[in-house]
Amino acid sequence: MRALVYHGPEQLELEQRPDPVAARGGAVVRVLACGICGTDLRIAKGAHRAYADGAARVPGHEIAAELVELGAGAGAGGLAVGDRVFIAPNLGCGHCPACRAGRSNLCASAEAFGITRDGGFAEYMAVPPAALEQGLLLPVPAGADPAVLSVVEPLACVLRGQRAVGVREGDRVLVCGAGPIGLLHVLLARAAGAAKVLVSEPHARRREEAVAFGADVGIDPSGEDLRVRVFEETDELGADVVITAVPVPAVQEQSLELAAVGGRINFFGGLPRDASTIRIDANVVHYRELQLTGTTANDTDDCREALELALSGRIALDRLVTARFPLEQAGAAFAAAAGGRELKVVLEP
Ligand SMILES: [Zn+2]
Ligand SMILES: [Zn+2]
Repeated sequence: MRALVYHGPEQLELEQRPDPVAARGGAVVRVLACGICGTDLRIAKGAHRAYADGAARVPGHEIAAELVELGAGAGAGGLAVGDRVFIAPNLGCGHCPACRAGRSNLCASAEAFGITRDGGFAEYMAVPPAALEQGLLLPVPAGADPAVLSVVEPLACVLRGQRAVGVREGDRVLVCGAGPIGLLHVLLARAAGAAKVLVSEPHARRREEAVAFGADVGIDPSGEDLRVRVFEETDELGADVVITAVPVPAVQEQSLELAAVGGRINFFGGLPRDASTIRIDANVVHYRELQLTGTTANDTDDCREALELALSGRIALDRLVTARFPLEQAGAAFAAAAGGRELKVVLEP
């Protein structure tokens, strides 16, 4: 099969690899679509901690696929060869305290497709027995567009973030950053019944996109006073929910002063490893009774719920997929994903 293999910084190579064979209790899927996200760009640059020197691995964790082989004794939960699936990428040990608390993404021995083991930028991908046992292969209708389904993975991360701050009907929500993740936050906040969705984003085109995706107001934090604008738009109360979806320390620092009394804040986007210390006035948290939360990645329940939202049509993900490439054009696809003009770029092996 053809596979896009990481060999080191800026060395993603398309090569021939033997087709995977289903292990006893495991499976093999044919990848139909696999989205490229910021994590993959970081992997390609050699800046991802799971990709150490000497790692030769296939990235790709936003995967829609077709089940093509089941190993002997595989318990596939009713799935059959030929079925189409969305794959929840994070595999925990299944029994540690983190896994039992719905945090398989934070399991000390967590594995993930495209992160610690071969992922979806290939024609085929092996699925280990534990992934079947933990129900990571979620069935999808044969007619659903695989490229659109691949966006369920980032949606699951976004859902986890919004669950942490309990976005509910009537909330006034501020999303900082209108990249594909910020846009997913806009879509989800709207679906949750937010009364008003504000977006802070310095790029004009992205601001317009955010409004097209359902935001009420796009604010330019480089040209306007963000705090003044947020309070203007919220009857001088501040935002009930603030979500930071950009890797910028100053945005996290400012988030506290944009929140209403009792406001909930989610640090959704991580910061660069060498710039992850911020300065905040802790008394603002104390005297305004703020709730400051953080979330990272997703677990299988998030994926299941995100998939239901997508399949029910309550969240329309199709507009996010703006570019599709075959595996042969992976270089162009990565350039497009890094270029910032496209929303989601998807490889269709
Ligand atoms: Zn991703
Ligand atoms: Zn565990």
